[in-house]
Amino acid sequence: MESPLKILKRYHIHPVKRLGQSFLVDNNVTSRIVDSSEIGEGDTVVEIGAGLGAMTAMIAPRVKRVIALEIDPKLVEVLVCELAEVPNIEIIHTDVLRYDFSSPLQGGGKIKVIGNIPYNVSSQILFRMIEFREHVSSATLMLQREVADRITASPGTKQYGIPSVIVSMYAEVSRLMAVPATCFYPVPKVDSVVLNMEMRGGPLYPLGDYATFIETVKAAFSMRRKTLVNNLKGMDGTRPMGIDTPSLLAEARIDGRRRGETLTVEEFGRLSEIISQLTGPS
Ligand code: SAM
Repeated sequence: MESPLKILKRYHIHPVKRLGQSFLVDNNVTSRIVDSSEIGEGDTVVEIGAGLGAMTAMIAPRVKRVIALEIDPKLVEVLVCELAEVPNIEIIHTDVLRYDFSSPLQGGGKIKVIGNIPYNVSSQILFRMIEFREHVSSATLMLQREVADRITASPGTKQYGIPSVIVSMYAEVSRLMAVPATCFYPVPKVDSVVLNMEMRGGPLYPLGDYATFIETVKAAFSMRRKTLVNNLKGMDGTRPMGIDTPSLLAEARIDGRRRGETLTVEEFGRLSEIISQLTGPS
């Protein structure tokens, strides 16, 4: 396939900032990302934000089927012109935040996800991976370094927060490589990192139900400077707690004077399990 810069020029495409369009123009890096994603012959792969198709073209010969998602109609045209003849590529003009990741394999099995994703919606995409965890076996995603740092952060650090807890509960995360800004066009102001998320079969620790877990984590981090006991009181407004917050924390063997950012993923699981047992799933 022609180089991404040549394709941009030939189709008179001007990258759209609002859509996070920063194209990988170093084919060696694209190839390293595809290599490291561990996709293989029998896989159905969904690529988020296929752009000019450079990564799509590299994935196709290695797998059973590639589904390339792209929101920009101009780029969809490019993808169709450049790749339509490759039999195992399907190009879908859609917003990834509306895409049903359970749709490709309705007969069972799990897809693998890959992408140099739009940074403006990277958190939403990460949460979408977790929501569709029963249908996704792994996700290899290029992220802004700060976002990758937040996902891999340990308790007690400034970066530790909602994404760190939720993603670690459902996925084993590894940092695959750093990608310098000069590998993209236009050159972004941020550094990038490729993360691999291997989805676990279930949560790492018992947690009650999913909705209560998410609600508990969000409440605990709602005001970072506040103690847990104060932050969890905020949940009373949205659900009948049936038990006062200090007793609930005592039941979970967690000191209510602590801040959310000090709780381990296991402690979050325990707390949410107790909340769902005492008050019923939300
Ligand atoms: N994969 C290409 C590459 O590596 O050069 C493009 C990556 S670029 C960072 C992100 C791509 O995602 C762009 O092509 C952009 O149009 C597309 N995009 C942005 N928002 C999207 C959305 N909500 N759903 C699907 N694609 C989106």
